[in-house]
Amino acid sequence: MFVRDPCGILCIISTYVAVFYADYVVVGWTVLLTMQDSSWCLFHIIAFNTVVLLMMTAHLKAVCSDPGIVPLPQNKMDFSDIHLSSESDNHEGDEKDDWTVCTRCETYRPPRAHHCRICKRCVRKMDHHCPWINNCVGERNQKYFIQFLVYVGALAIYTIILISISWIYDCPQCNNDISVKQSRILHSVMLVLESGLFGMFVVAILFDQFQAILNDETAVERVKGTQQRKNVSRIFKLLSQVYGKSHPIFWLLPYQNPRYSFRKDAYLIDYEV
Ligand SMILES: [Zn+2]
Ligand SMILES: [Zn+2]
Repeated sequence: MFVRDPCGILCIISTYVAVFYADYVVVGWTVLLTMQDSSWCLFHIIAFNTVVLLMMTAHLKAVCSDPGIVPLPQNKMDFSDIHLSSESDNHEGDEKDDWTVCTRCETYRPPRAHHCRICKRCVRKMDHHCPWINNCVGERNQKYFIQFLVYVGALAIYTIILISISWIYDCPQCNNDISVKQSRILHSVMLVLESGLFGMFVVAILFDQFQAILNDETAVERVKGTQQRKNVSRIFKLLSQVYGKSHPIFWLLPYQNPRYSFRKDAYLIDYEV
């Protein structure tokens, strides 16, 4: 699966350009220029490219794998009354342990699944939609997403260390040609800035990800929790079990037959993997 989102595609291309540039500067302008006579030269080239390979693999897996998309029902279900009674699926999406209804996908979804407007589908345990992987971060690809972040962080630290120590070494070509030295300085500064920026960025996201895992709460749930809609929604739900799915204005009128909510367990069988 591949999401056709221009922002996501641009972010993926930027990621590849940034990694390619880092590899070019580290190998061509840092290691080969200063450590040619040392056995560290080969070691750093192999080690750096191994981390790049691991990072690219984790990235590719995060991009291409299914984040946990909730399958659409084989037969279309009739949710017309839910469309009328709620403007958005948010009212239905607050409960952590209940199956809910997505009015956009027109399907039941398991607890903690949320609708992504970019993927246009519901995703199990959706954390957020990440343009850098042009995919949702959900139950099935969060592992690859975190691996990707860890390797980007490792590459950023490794790059800054390599560029720093390369200035201790002597550079014969820089001594002979001033333009080589100027280019080397320019590339080093640009790459240190790039590494610093990406490094801080991934450390911030990693911190968020681990906090979310330890609190057993996805980013989507955290946002919804702070809006304190949980209790209102719960009261509404409990009352609607008695009064049916009609608008609360009609709850006191003794003329309407209550429209009861669907039996969710009747559909559970569709989603068992
Ligand atoms: Zn949906
Ligand atoms: Zn998404």
